[in-house]
Amino acid sequence: MNGYGGKILRVNLTSGLIKTEPLDPRFAREWIGGRGFAARLLYDEVKRGANPLGEENKVIIASGPLSGVFVPAGAKVAFAAKSPATGGYGESNMGGHFSPEMKYAGYDVIIIEGTAPQPSYLFIEDDRVEIRSAQKYWGKGCLTSEKMLKSDLREEFQILTIGPAGENLVRFACISHDFGRQAGRTGMGTVFGSKKLKAIAIKGTEAIPVANVKEATRLGKEMFKQIFDNPALKQWQDYGTPGVVNWANEIEAFPTRNFQMEYFEHHKNLSGQLMRDRIVTSDKACFGCPMSCGKYSHTRKTSKYKYNVWVEGPEYETIALCGGNCALPNIEDVAYANWVCDELGIDTISSGAVIAFAMECFEKGIITEKDAGRKIRFGDVDSFAYLAKKIAYQKGIGKILARGTRDASKVFGPEAEKLAMQIKGLEISGYSFRNALAMALAYGTCDVGAHHNRAWAITYDIEVGRQKSEGKAAKVIFLQHVRPMFDMLGTCRLQWVELGFELENYPKILEAVTGFKYSLEELLKFSEKVWNLTRMFWAREIKGFGQTYDWPPQRFFKVPPGKEKIFLTREIYDQLLQEYYKLRGWNKNGIPTRKKLRELNLEFTMGDLPHKKIKLEIQVVGYIKELFPGERFPLELENPLTIREILKRLKVKEELVGLVTVNGEPGNKDHVPSDGDKIMFMAFAAGG
Ligand code: SF4
Repeated sequence: MNGYGGKILRVNLTSGLIKTEPLDPRFAREWIGGRGFAARLLYDEVKRGANPLGEENKVIIASGPLSGVFVPAGAKVAFAAKSPATGGYGESNMGGHFSPEMKYAGYDVIIIEGTAPQPSYLFIEDDRVEIRSAQKYWGKGCLTSEKMLKSDLREEFQILTIGPAGENLVRFACISHDFGRQAGRTGMGTVFGSKKLKAIAIKGTEAIPVANVKEATRLGKEMFKQIFDNPALKQWQDYGTPGVVNWANEIEAFPTRNFQMEYFEHHKNLSGQLMRDRIVTSDKACFGCPMSCGKYSHTRKTSKYKYNVWVEGPEYETIALCGGNCALPNIEDVAYANWVCDELGIDTISSGAVIAFAMECFEKGIITEKDAGRKIRFGDVDSFAYLAKKIAYQKGIGKILARGTRDASKVFGPEAEKLAMQIKGLEISGYSFRNALAMALAYGTCDVGAHHNRAWAITYDIEVGRQKSEGKAAKVIFLQHVRPMFDMLGTCRLQWVELGFELENYPKILEAVTGFKYSLEELLKFSEKVWNLTRMFWAREIKGFGQTYDWPPQRFFKVPPGKEKIFLTREIYDQLLQEYYKLRGWNKNGIPTRKKLRELNLEFTMGDLPHKKIKLEIQVVGYIKELFPGERFPLELENPLTIREILKRLKVKEELVGLVTVNGEPGNKDHVPSDGDKIMFMAFAAGG
């Protein structure tokens, strides 16, 4: 199948059963790959109410059609599972080299089911797939175990690992790869740990078939040329994401001391420029990416706290959350904090947020020295490392903090709850948004909890005026549709975000690679479908899910110290939210309407809409054995059903019914009627 590995690998860790299934071309055409495959398979395969840490949860690992082919940065892979961090839709995206390797081994998707009886890892070399003992690696850090696996297998194996935090079920544990790339958010490493899956090692040797090699090569070359000719490339290669640290402070959006402030007085000591001079030893790139935004660093300190480590990073989000948010005053300490998190296997964003939360609780006397086991202070890297280790091993106060800010704050009481900087249970990432209305909405409505990269809207706030509301709901929706497109294709979005790459490149190259023809509008419509599907996942899994889950913490509606005023008020935010729901075709509580679900061919999710009785009017025309001719009667359903299911409920043989109309329009038997619909069943031989 052009552009695809062509197979789904299914591994059941409980039974040890391993099988492959062919990738259905119709499924591929409709869900494209990566995030699209992951969202649909998770919805279908994980049953409602599954325990995120139970055997019934699954991890879906999905590559995309542009991954591993001659396209810049075709390196991204999606991981999805029901999130132990939020209880809702969990997903994280990762670069590096794993995604292409999956395709070379012939797999577009790996589905991990069940729970292994003992620590295990998955070995994949093309068609050879084995569940092997991971006893030797269990307990080891992510970076250490990756090194051990590479030396035990071969260097060219691409490895995923978890660290002690994943093994110990810390809710924000990550999956690590390539000594510094992570699927960090929503606790995907925790789900690996709950399955006793320490690692996956993969090596593939197959070629990926391409529909039109000549055209794909021409377009690929053109795209690479566009990158190399771009004057902004050099700046990006030199500084990567840390290049925006100074800017984020200038615009006052830099998380500082648990988001109490938005400007960090030591930010110049954390800038990309300073980092390059002081600690960077080399650049590092994902598969096929000329931008090489990864920075490999050596950080060393011999006085006070001793450390001497090599780490990929820190990148911007780590600098924001572990740096400004925990007030670490220099890049060496932030790089060390980064290494601690990477080796333990905890997401640097959530870790920075949870530790900053604990530091503020300590500052305010909510957590005492006795509770914490020592003083835990902003600006102190030793406090950071101490808490990170307590969390990873679930020791002392770490046992509470390992639940994430939302659930930990409930243990510490109402005053602590005000300090939990999270939305939907996911800690807020690296941009404060008191004076950035589009960014506030983007965080609030994000499909995995508060994560910047699903719609990085702050530049739009700056461009059109931060306090303005007009047009922002529409812009956030547009960004929320562009981003999944990249995640479905299996490519990095940064070429578009940072170098202004034309979006029109993508349908063209996708057609050359897969032979599937899409317009850009069509691709964005698929993104909308994925966005609505994940919203339905939340509505299905969380009783009472609705607009309150889209609200930022109260802190963001309050003027921070040193500022005279802010623009974000509860009233403005709620107005924006309602405008957003309306534009999305959702109801006032933020739930997709039946009309929207039907428009997107998501009828199969309708049964998961919040419970409401559906009243229908049935009319019978002609002779249908089980019903009276001409009969009209009301029918009340507890849950939405298809016409076929309704006939079954009425004990009517389906083959006796010829025509079906819904409100006078011809319908088919897979149609799901809505409340108030008038349904007419007409016998095959009406009047006979
Ligand atoms: S821009 Fe950075 S994250 Fe994106 S593919 Fe390139 S190296 Fe990886």
